This record gives sequence, C-alpha cells and structure tokens, in this order.
Amino acid sequence: MNTVKEKSVTRTIPVGNVPVGGGHPVAVQSMTNTDTRDVRTTVAQIRKLEEVGCEIIRVAVLNMDAAKAIAEINKAISIPLIADIHFDWRLAVAAMESGANGIRINPGNIGSLEKLKKVVDKAKKLGVPIRVGVNSGSLEKEIREKFGGPTPEALVESAIRNTNLIADMGHEELKISIKSSDAMATVDAYRLISRRTDFPLHIGVTEAGGLIAGTVKSSVALGALLMDGIGDTMRVSLTRDPAEEIIVAYEILRAVKLRHRGPEIISCPTCGRCDIDLFSLARAVEERARKIPQPIKLAVMGCIVNGPGEAREADIGVAGGKGKGIIFKGEKILKKVDEANLLEEFWKEVEIVLDEYDRKHPDIQR
Ligand code: SF4
Repeated sequence: MNTVKEKSVTRTIPVGNVPVGGGHPVAVQSMTNTDTRDVRTTVAQIRKLEEVGCEIIRVAVLNMDAAKAIAEINKAISIPLIADIHFDWRLAVAAMESGANGIRINPGNIGSLEKLKKVVDKAKKLGVPIRVGVNSGSLEKEIREKFGGPTPEALVESAIRNTNLIADMGHEELKISIKSSDAMATVDAYRLISRRTDFPLHIGVTEAGGLIAGTVKSSVALGALLMDGIGDTMRVSLTRDPAEEIIVAYEILRAVKLRHRGPEIISCPTCGRCDIDLFSLARAVEERARKIPQPIKLAVMGCIVNGPGEAREADIGVAGGKGKGIIFKGEKILKKVDEANLLEEFWKEVEIVLDEYDRKHPDIQR
C-alpha cells in the first residue's frame, strides 16, 4: 500500500526554468551562507550545491551592492536564484532589476502598503514570482497578540493576509512559506493553510538545528507533510554546509518515495561479526555517491555471513571478512579483495553498474 497521498493540487508558477506547484516534482532548495557581494565565493558555493542536486538557490540581499551582484552571479550559475529581502523595498526592486528569478519577502516588514506596491508592481512587470515568507519569529504584533503567540493559526492568518494583499495588487505568481522551528507547529500550520489556498507551498522547519537534530526535525515535519501531499518546494535548514541540506532533502524525498536522486546506500550498523572498518568504508562510499545522480542501490555490509543476504536487492554490494571483503551482485560473489583495496575495487564495479544504468536510461535528466 502506498501511504503517500495524492499531491495537493496547487497552481503552477514558474521560478526561472523550474515549474513549481501543480503536481511538478518537489523542488529542492537551499540558501547560500556567503556574502552575496562576494560574487566569486557565492558562485563557487552555488556550483557545489548544483553538483549535489540543488534546484533553486536563495541568497541574502542585505544592501544595494548585494542586489547588484545578482546580475554577475546569475551569469555563472544554471539554477534559478531567489533574492531574500527584509525591510527595504528598494533592495527588492534592485534585486529584480538585476535579474533575480524570484524574491522572498515578508510583506509585514516591508514598511507600508505603498512600499509593498512598488515591489509588487515591479515583480508583475518583470514576471518575477514572490514568496511570501512568514516565520514564527517575524509575525505581526497584532496577530501574535490575537492568537496568544506564534501558533499555527497565527502563522496561517498572517500568510493568508499578506498573500491576499499582493494578489489584490494584481500579482498572482506567489508561493507561501510559514515556518516555525517547532516541527509539530510546522506540520499543523501547513496542513491548515493547504486547505485555504492553492498557491504553491515552500515547506521547511526554520532554525532546525545541527546535522542530527535538524535532520530529525525536518524528516519528521517534512516527511509528514509530503506524505499528506503537501509541499511544492522544500528546504532542510541545517547549521551546516548547505550541501548537506540538499543531501538530507533528497533522502527525505526518497524515503517517502517521491523522488529518487542519487544512490541509495544500504549499510548495516555492524555487530560482533564485523571484522573490517566498515564505518570508514561506508563514509567513503557516501562521499563518492554524493555527486552521482543515478538512483542505483549500493550495499556496504559488515560481514559475509549475513551481508549479501540482507542486501540482496542492491545493484552492487561489498561485505567485510577477516582483513578482506567480497564484492557481490545479487547472490553472486564477483571478487574477493584485501581490505586495503576494498573501496577502489568496489568503486570499479560501481562504475560498471552506472554505465549499465546510463545505457538503459539514456534520457535521465542530470
Ligand atoms: S551484516 Fe553482518 S556485521 Fe552487519 S549487522 Fe548484519 S550480521 Fe552484523
């Protein structure tokens, strides 16, 4: 039985060359942590993110120089760029004039309706979509007071009010995010808003934490939402290298069977039967697998006794012995190799599997 519900029907908006909403694949986003004015460093980080599958990138625009730098950055990258702006409407306008493919604002902190209208008019004229981003930390005072805090209902009220403001100004290429750092509040808020709007939803848990806490919170909240069919773009927010956000996002999408990018690695926790340094081997395999888009299955198992049996469905696997290991495909042992050469010999076989995959799937998108 497939427990993932039919995707909620949202309208489609174009974010650069990525269609968002309307049943299109959930697009994976991240945000740079560089100084946007430093074009070289920012481009280098975005390219690294592209390599691991980032599909939309957001950059912080803190001042005019950053807004202007977008023009140069955009020339050197191939994914849509969203300008993230707080408080200053002029930065939003400048970022769009520099070629931003989208802007993220919280209309509540842009200052006044007049200023918001200037931003919306420019977005409409240039066909730039706007993400209305409401966060528990930046909720309007009167809404916070009305609901007694940043409750899910409060976040939804703020998002609906601000989205309607922009839509009433005549621009409907909108996307909404209502993030909280509380996983359960995030789920409740998105469930509520998905019943009240057909604008695409960008989902994420904000300030989720480091690798372990952030991954767990994001997996619980985003996993639940995705299984409900909610979410058109997603960001896993981690206090880490943004590349890790992308890796975790694709693992969540794989777990809920919505997208399958990159190898799935089946590896055992090890036990007393394991006689090799499996943790290092598994880590090295994970490292190498990061830049591979083909959704093959790799197994990295601790022992010959149970490993091949437990990882029978893998396309190619490695299992440890005493100072040695085997490389196996299904039930067949292809090679016995000394532990020191295990990674390199295994990888040669992985490359053969990748070639086979490419021959069978010549149309795969990279
Ligand atoms: S594959 Fe072998 S080493 Fe790994 S957990 Fe199973 S029995 Fe233990």
